[in-house]
This record gives sequence, structure tokens and C-alpha cells, in this order.
Amino acid sequence: MGRFCPKCGSEGHKFVHGLCERCFWDDSLEDFPKEFKVPMCNSCFSYLQGKRWMRKREDTPEERVIEGAKVELMRSAELPEGVEFGEIEGEVTERAKSGLPKTVLLTSTLIEEESGISTKVKSLGSMDYRLCQDCYNVASGKYDAVVQIRAEGRRLDAEDGRAVERVFENFYRRTEGRGRPEVSEVKEHEGGIDVKFVTLNMARMFVRELAETTGASVVESAKIMGADKRTGSGHYRTTIATKMPSLRVGELIEVDGKVFQISGHHRGRFVVKDFLGGGRKRTLSDSQLATSRRIRMDECRRVRLEAKTTRFGTFLDLEEKRFLDLPIEFVPKDMVEGDVGVLICVNGNEVVYKLDGGPVGI
Ligand SMILES: [Zn+2]
Ligand SMILES: [Zn+2]
Repeated sequence: MGRFCPKCGSEGHKFVHGLCERCFWDDSLEDFPKEFKVPMCNSCFSYLQGKRWMRKREDTPEERVIEGAKVELMRSAELPEGVEFGEIEGEVTERAKSGLPKTVLLTSTLIEEESGISTKVKSLGSMDYRLCQDCYNVASGKYDAVVQIRAEGRRLDAEDGRAVERVFENFYRRTEGRGRPEVSEVKEHEGGIDVKFVTLNMARMFVRELAETTGASVVESAKIMGADKRTGSGHYRTTIATKMPSLRVGELIEVDGKVFQISGHHRGRFVVKDFLGGGRKRTLSDSQLATSRRIRMDECRRVRLEAKTTRFGTFLDLEEKRFLDLPIEFVPKDMVEGDVGVLICVNGNEVVYKLDGGPVGI
């Protein structure tokens, strides 16, 4: 006993570094920020962490504002040795007419590690709004990558347009939590579509999906656009040329007198349904593809199997409403009465195929 605080003279307290608890915190927190500014992007609510603009993808704008205030407070507060931040609670205390948060009140718990004592201190952060680099780039129409969407040997048509639309829908769904636009322009160009992306990563993500779903080929090339003013390093703009294949899922082709139906793509190769191979799936080699002939819609007729004997299959031509008999070897084994197929003339023989959906337009 008999111990007293040399600063305030009080006795009977817990002492920290020779001072009573209260005088210790008074001394330690003399310069702790009571008010401070928080650099914040008013478009995507990113905050500055060092020199980088950051935001957590899953956070709401309000959570991002509070997180930004915490980060800024921790950066600007100079704590005495042995004192650390514990939990920091934050709430938005004032909003602009537009609804944008203006101030965030933070209540920080500070802990003196050696003695274990703690205190709470309040600080008011005011949002200092501006555009982050990415949002500035969007606003000023800058872009790092352009994706050219074209089709092999034709202009993009309505079918291609729907495929591209589905890729866009998925892309927007996957990126909506990022809270800022990633696409700065979509424009029709030379029978195709050009899409400008603010960042190369997002362009690549879009292209991966496009290639997976349509079998499009991808060629990427970068061009130096001069030095970045901020970092001094080279600034690149990347062009990603994509080409959708000439053949589409559902279409029929003839290779060496055999008919296949395109059923998909795998690693840049066409996957086809092999009718003569019992309907199994296989990939076509480049040389098979080169010698293939696309079967036009007007070469096909929709037919329905009405009856089957050991020697013949009887079909109803659904367009011309007439019956025809075909030798049983030209009738698919897995076809039963009522099944609809397509009749094609191959090597002078009329053959019926049972399709997996499609072909396009039929
Ligand atoms: Zn004291
Ligand atoms: Zn931003």
C-alpha cells in the first residue's frame, strides 16, 4: 500500500507503467484521432489500404464504408508501445440527402498487453469521396482489354446473338457483387461485337465462358500504350480475338459418307453423335472436319416412325403428309414407333437419323 499516482496523486488503483489506469490512458491517447478523413470511392465504395483501393466483395456499401473508416483509423493512429487495437465497432451516424454515408462513428477497444487493461475510445470519420482508379477509368471510358466476338465465315446471326447474351447474363450474375461496372462499352463492329473491359482479368473471365459454351477459338495479343503515369511501368492494352466455329450444336455434317450430329465442344474439338456407332459421342479430328460437308436444312425432312417390320420401317413425312417405306438397315435400331427423326439422302440412299434435339432450324 502507500502507492500513489505521481500525476494525479490518487491511490488504491491498478498501476500501469507507474501511472494510475486513468492517467495512463489520458497520456497514451492524447494524440489518438478524434476526427479523421476517410478516402472512399463514391461509386464502388472501395477504400484505400496503403496505395491500393480495396473492398470486400461480399460487403454492402455501408459495410464497406465502415471497414474503410476502420482501416484508415488504424493506419493513422499512433499507439504507444504495448498498446494494441482490440475490437472496433462502427456505425453510420450521418447521411447526405442522396443517402450516401457522410460520417461513421467508431468505438475502438484498446488493450495494454502487459497489464491486460483496456479502454474504449470514440472517433468520428468523415467520408472523403472521390473515384478510385478503376471507377475513374470506367467514367473516362478507359479500358485495358477489348474482346472481339466474331464467327468463322459468317456475320453473327440471331442464334449467335442469343449465345453471346447468355454469356453476358452469366458474367453479370457472377460479377454483380463487385459493385462496379466491368464493361465500359459494347458495340457492333464488322459483322461482330466488340466489348471493352476495364480490366484484363474480367475480359479473360468473359472469354473463358464464351469459349466453353460456344467452342469459340481465342487469340490474345497485347500492345504497349505508353508508360503508366502513376507507376512508371508500361501500360498494355490487350485485344482478345474470339471466333465462334462455323458449325453449331445440333447441326448435321457428313464425313466420308457418314452423318454426324454436332453435340458440343471439348478442348477446341467438336464432339459429335456418331449415328452408325450406336449414337455414342466422339470427337472429330481436324482432317475429318476439313473434309466434312454441312447438311443444309432443305436436305432434311422430318419423319415419324409409324410401323416397323423385320424388313421395313414405315415413316410418315411430316411436311408432305405421305408415307414411305425404308429398308430396315437404314432405320435406327433404337427408334420406336412414334419417334421423330430426320430423313437425309446420303450416298444415294435415304437414311433416317434419330436426333438429340435440333438440328438448328428444324
Ligand atoms: Zn493518475
Ligand atoms: Zn470505385
